Amino acid sequence: MAEAGSFADRVKQQADIVRVIGEYVRLKKSGQNFTGLCPFHGEKTPSFAVHPVKQIFHCFGCGKGGDVFSFVMDMEKCPFPEAVKVVAEKCGIPVPRPKERTPEERKENQQRAALIEIHREAQAFFVRQLESTAEGRAARAYLEDRGLNAETIARFGIGYAPSGGDALLRQLKPKYAEKLLVESGVISRDQSGARLFDRFRRRITFPIANESGKIVAFGCRALGDDLPKYLNSPETPIYSKSNLLYHMDRAKEPIRRQDFAILVEGYMDAIAVARAGIGNVVASCGTSLAEPQIKLLGRFTKRVIVNYDPDVAGQAATERSLTLLLEHDFEVRVLALPAIGDKKADPDLFIREKGAEAYIKLLKEAPPYVDYLIARARQMDLSTGEGKQRALNFLMPYVQRIPNALLRSEWASRIAQQLRIDEPVLRAALNKSATERRSEVKVAPQLVGKPAKQIERRLIRMLAEAEGFKRELAQRLQHGRLYEGLETEKVFAALIVAGLSDEPIPATEIGAQLEERERRVFFEILFEDAQEPTWEEAESCLDALRRRQLEQELAKVQKTIEANPSGAGLRELLERKQELMKQLAAAG
Ligand SMILES: [Zn+2]
Repeated sequence: MAEAGSFADRVKQQADIVRVIGEYVRLKKSGQNFTGLCPFHGEKTPSFAVHPVKQIFHCFGCGKGGDVFSFVMDMEKCPFPEAVKVVAEKCGIPVPRPKERTPEERKENQQRAALIEIHREAQAFFVRQLESTAEGRAARAYLEDRGLNAETIARFGIGYAPSGGDALLRQLKPKYAEKLLVESGVISRDQSGARLFDRFRRRITFPIANESGKIVAFGCRALGDDLPKYLNSPETPIYSKSNLLYHMDRAKEPIRRQDFAILVEGYMDAIAVARAGIGNVVASCGTSLAEPQIKLLGRFTKRVIVNYDPDVAGQAATERSLTLLLEHDFEVRVLALPAIGDKKADPDLFIREKGAEAYIKLLKEAPPYVDYLIARARQMDLSTGEGKQRALNFLMPYVQRIPNALLRSEWASRIAQQLRIDEPVLRAALNKSATERRSEVKVAPQLVGKPAKQIERRLIRMLAEAEGFKRELAQRLQHGRLYEGLETEKVFAALIVAGLSDEPIPATEIGAQLEERERRVFFEILFEDAQEPTWEEAESCLDALRRRQLEQELAKVQKTIEANPSGAGLRELLERKQELMKQLAAAG
């Protein structure tokens, strides 16, 4: 949220939301608003609206809405500070250079810069070792055997960490503090804490770069039979495994251009695929994909072909990644490479044996994830009812994640056919679990709460906009607790707090405090065509709420009386009932 007086706040005040959104969506003036086709969901008739005065947008179809920054964040898939910059640039507002605010920040930045410098030096060292030492020659022979020629070795910065144990340490020690060297992860400290040594020894080194191409870690493969076969950098201030995708620095442009990415498991796979001329490949460098990695990928495309190893671990990783990708609205296909002889093929082996063309052909034919899953389910024993149930239990969680109801239904038919399951039975199971998980599902239009009643809508509009009397109105609502129990109670609560505050609070900030469902109701009300409110109308709405409150209490008293007609306190209850009826009559 834009903090008052901050740069973001200034940009927000100066930016024209219609102009900014107009660069992405063709907008047409319609009454007070501008409307157009929503860029966030496919549609043929416009349900996307921009309000020039309130500086908000809202889609009546998919429910997306917010201010100019949230629009840009969603369109550009970028974080808030980036969105502020984008908007500022579009509106010709000069962007100040980022300043380190505190001494801690400065220290952190210096540390990060030093860690990156250590990695740069280590990288140069490893490359030199591979090129010009006897040990390095053996490593090169191994790489050539794996089909990696000098050009590829240079292109991917592959190097070699020698066996000595302190060769890199001797190189770095004169320049950097011990603590920093250990923090970088390329140097380790033994258990006694007394001795430092090279973390990577007798290993082929693969530099791992962050999104902007700076080397922040190494992935290393043992040259001989040393264990572990793969040893990577530990988590450090500049490297977190779950935040990074191998090869992303070079793949982002091809991914954006082709609007899809190929996801493989390890760096050898990514290198093999990239060498084959397919640049839009990234590796998760771990057995399964983490959420930050998916978000990173999602900034460049929403379409991915998963090509993990065909072994059991790879299958499990594929299925775990599928779940996450589907939750983030990715369109997912799965490429399961056929075995070569009796060997299961990962992308590296497959391309080496069958060539790039064959790989590209399979890539093009990669089936949607549901086909892949059905094929997996069909490998289960389907001869018994229990077996079928197991297969169904395996499939169901994925099918439920298909956001589109029509598509979901189509898949249900296919699954029924392929697994020979009675279709109505399957549909019933699907519907049942659909209701059970409703609470965790993203808000789809059909799940949105009932539209608020007219009185609530009018009062909400007045609380948001009636400058003349919104404070008075907020006081009356709060004092009589008239909004409690309403469907829109939370919207009221937020607006009353805003109405009673001395500072004007813009609608977007109130919206940001609300849950998604309430935010939608609130924005829809703000976009309604409505006449100027009057205090008279406000009073009649308040009266209606007051009546509603009395009626509800009366019903409660009546119920208590009926539940226990001779009980204690009956007289008080009857008196209260009389009183309530009198008040109701007076309220008309
Ligand atoms: Zn929409």
